[in-house]
Amino acid sequence: MLFERIAVIGVGLIGGSFALALKQAKACAHVVGAGRSAANLKLALERGAIDSIAPDAASAARDADLVLVAAPVAQFPEIFSSIEKTLRKEAVVTDAGSTKRDVIAAAKRGLRKKIAQFVPAHPIAGAEKSGVAAANVDLFRGKRVVLTPLEGNSRASIKIIHDAWAACGARVSEMNAKEHDAVLAAVSHLPHLLAFALVHDVASRKNSAQLFSFAAGGFRDFTRIASSHPEMWRDICMANRDRLLDEISRFSKKLGQVKKLLDNPEKLEKLFAEARDARDKWIRSS
Ligand code: NAD
Repeated sequence: MLFERIAVIGVGLIGGSFALALKQAKACAHVVGAGRSAANLKLALERGAIDSIAPDAASAARDADLVLVAAPVAQFPEIFSSIEKTLRKEAVVTDAGSTKRDVIAAAKRGLRKKIAQFVPAHPIAGAEKSGVAAANVDLFRGKRVVLTPLEGNSRASIKIIHDAWAACGARVSEMNAKEHDAVLAAVSHLPHLLAFALVHDVASRKNSAQLFSFAAGGFRDFTRIASSHPEMWRDICMANRDRLLDEISRFSKKLGQVKKLLDNPEKLEKLFAEARDARDKWIRSS
């Protein structure tokens, strides 16, 4: 047994899937959940993701040997400060936040002298659905989890978090937080922003009903992620604002270039062919 007692703060899609996967792997004896929605926690209990409900994050962390923080990232400062009081010396804390520089800054402020007990992590797996109703025992199977360890982390703490995600079936690697936020801005945060913006633009036109009635597979595929949780994506975009702004500028330039190619069919086709080859290669290798 890897863990006796795990506390999951925020038992939604990610927290719930983590708990279900560790239970299936028989890696933990008891999972206690804390959250903002009583109905969601009740469902987490019914689904067997958690074994008990704590009244708040501090109580959940009290006897835990592992704490996972999996709420939207703007909630992290308050959660870290509240668990600092009850966290055992031997416990390890990790998170699932989609951004890392802000989460680490919040952890430093909130956990204070206990900061070395925090090993930041980001599972690169998810869905446009939210809440424990969408949790899935296989969500992380074969998917990447990036750890962005802190200088003060012991190798033993990093190994514990590595083993926890590996027990969920994930492929675990390490990166620094700065690089993580730059990479994710390009391949996750910008695409989400574009999907939300495109759907919003179509929805705000006078003939939106007509437009939606003719939208088919291409529009559905491109905009699937615009069904994602608005609060979660607000927090991610605000937390990674500087890197996202860089990506928006870069993409705006690219759009300008592509616009010019509408006068040049050969070059336009060449760009499409290069993009298709790059995507096909990525799909084959992933
Ligand atoms: P979710 O909405 O499904 O779950 C979040 C849960 O946190 C909810 O149950 C909510 O009630 C709870 N919560 C909100 N505020 C809280 C607070 N102050 N204290 C305790 N609980 C609180 O969202 P999710 O998709 O599971 O995302 C959770 C985290 O994982 C986010 O930080 C997100 O950035 C990250 N993440 C999400 C994805 C994804 O694709 N959904 C992928 C990787 C990482």
